[in-house]
Amino acid sequence: MARRPLVVGNWKMNCTRATAQQLLADLLAGLPTDAKAQVGVCPAYVFIPELGAMLAGKTIALGAQNVADQDQGAFTGEISAPMLKEFGCAYAIVGHSERRLVYGETNALVAARYAKAIEHGITPIFCVGETLEEREQDKTFAVIDEQLQAVLDLCGVASLSQAVIAYEPVWAIGTGRTATTEQAQEVHAYIRAQIAKLDAEVAEGLQILYGGSVKADNAAALFGMPDVDGGLVGGASLDAKSFLAICLAA
Ligand code: PGA
Repeated sequence: MARRPLVVGNWKMNCTRATAQQLLADLLAGLPTDAKAQVGVCPAYVFIPELGAMLAGKTIALGAQNVADQDQGAFTGEISAPMLKEFGCAYAIVGHSERRLVYGETNALVAARYAKAIEHGITPIFCVGETLEEREQDKTFAVIDEQLQAVLDLCGVASLSQAVIAYEPVWAIGTGRTATTEQAQEVHAYIRAQIAKLDAEVAEGLQILYGGSVKADNAAALFGMPDVDGGLVGGASLDAKSFLAICLAA
């Protein structure tokens, strides 16, 4: 089964209302309708209604940068999957390393967020990845095993047929230090093999994105690796020309 490439822009806590609209307008104008890759953008929550309206009937998909582990109620500061669904979100990033490391989200909480996305028909972009210290201590695979296991325990392997995984080595995020194509492929192949032990068909169909300093000049080489099915792009997704070049490299 051929996996369609997917390139998602993670805008993080960037843009103003005006620059977010301009960026999306530039992407809509510049992305060929027959692009091979599916393309998505994950703006800050407050921009979702307006940008969602701009995307109605368009080929670029809308995503959120997180999703609550509950549907509604006394959870100050959280946004639920049903709310995101109402505004046309097809994707939600869960377990981004900035959420894990800066805001203390545990594997269990990330899995609960993932579960809510799945339950409400939003495709979670489930982020895994090791810190530099963990890589240097040869713990990369062990860390990824634990991150994956939390989701498998809660939702089962079949849920991955409605999910995307993003491998994002923490040491490569926003640092300009990209993983080599071999480093990325090694971990992507590992993730797919672990899942294949549980369900070969799910593993074969699963889109595994690479994230961490993806740029216009390294995207084609990364996306050319057999188990790299596209990218989750931070910094370079804030510039329409760069992001379009990355999308076209997939
Ligand atoms: P970066 O961020 O492309 O700026 O390294 C990637 C991410 O955090 O998803």
